[in-house]
Amino acid sequence: PETITVQELANRMAERAGDVVKSLMKMGMMATINQTIDADTAELVVQEFGHRVRRVAESDVELGMRGEADDTADLLPRSPVVTVMGHVDHGKTSLLDAIRNADVAAGEAGGITQHIGAYQIQIPSGDKITFIDTPGHEAFTEMRARGANVTDIVILVVAADDGIMAQTVEAIRHAKAANVPVIVACNKIDKPDADPARVRQELLQHDIVVEEMGGDVQVVDVSAKTKQGIDTLLEAIMLQAEVLELKANPNRSAEGVVIEAKVERGRGSVATVLVQRGTVKVGDVFVAGAEWGRVRALVDDRGAQVDSAGPTVPVEVLGLQGTPTAGDEFVVVENEGRAREIADYRQRVIREKQATAGARGTVEQMLSAI
Ligand code: GDP
Ligand code: MG
Repeated sequence: PETITVQELANRMAERAGDVVKSLMKMGMMATINQTIDADTAELVVQEFGHRVRRVAESDVELGMRGEADDTADLLPRSPVVTVMGHVDHGKTSLLDAIRNADVAAGEAGGITQHIGAYQIQIPSGDKITFIDTPGHEAFTEMRARGANVTDIVILVVAADDGIMAQTVEAIRHAKAANVPVIVACNKIDKPDADPARVRQELLQHDIVVEEMGGDVQVVDVSAKTKQGIDTLLEAIMLQAEVLELKANPNRSAEGVVIEAKVERGRGSVATVLVQRGTVKVGDVFVAGAEWGRVRALVDDRGAQVDSAGPTVPVEVLGLQGTPTAGDEFVVVENEGRAREIADYRQRVIREKQATAGARGTVEQMLSAI
């Protein structure tokens, strides 16, 4: 049930608790400062004091702030978002670099030079693919644990001279748990002791049946070093993306996920955000986890300032009041008051959780007043 203590209600209105008690008495209720009252009563008190009432639903925090599902009529095709996983030293970083260099939209800007946590390339067909630039299953599971499902496809990198190793198995497990399709990149094919046939056999033991063996998992032999097979891998991604029929509504207020966030000298708090639906614009007010801000500037993966960013376009967002956490939800809201309110509320919940760490604390604040 939605309840709040008299003291907490007073705090939120910046009124004296004694005055709240008096107000309740006038309404025929005898309550002490530590007593809880229900939300309806609290609302009356708030109005009595001449404050505006706004209930912040528990679901705002538990489930996030995302709006309702879009009408299918508003959905347009979108690019796939890909995460690279695999055992240490099997070539994840090298592969991400090779793919970055395969971008055909380099043009005047000079290609992807910035490491902002994600980048989007264009392939010869004209299609675009977004890559999360932080390889590894930790980032993947951490984001998933925070409720952020950003990845459409996992590229499982397996070194052909080494085969399936412990972290390969882990990556397979994570991809399966997340129900995200896998494409195997059999890397280091340039090495004399590369044994791609063995990789396929070993995959079989982990329920990854590649197409050549009658299964539905694509496998591409690549060399991040010589760039052999990179184009084929990118085509394989687009093939998989077609099967997934990825769509998003670009014409709505933006929602997405924080891929990474940090404080930078001279720039303040900077978050790399991957927009998942809608379009974020300079001037938009947003909430990112327990932080909020107004978009002061948007910077793309080429270091260029842009006015807006739509679905699957990664951008650095400047204008944050604090630093959010990777995996936090990014949601544009209608105004600053609302943004502050949600951020305040979430920070309070975080503080309370920390305060009651270990003990079972109940979050009773479901009503906030301004
Ligand atoms: P990560 O730990 O998975 O990110 O692996 P790295 O990308 O750092 O690569 C580990 C080592 O393997 C580095 O010394 C790379 O130069 C090397 N390497 C990566 N890909 C290839 C490849 O395709 N061929 C060869 N010969 N070496 C590679
Ligand atoms: Mg690496």
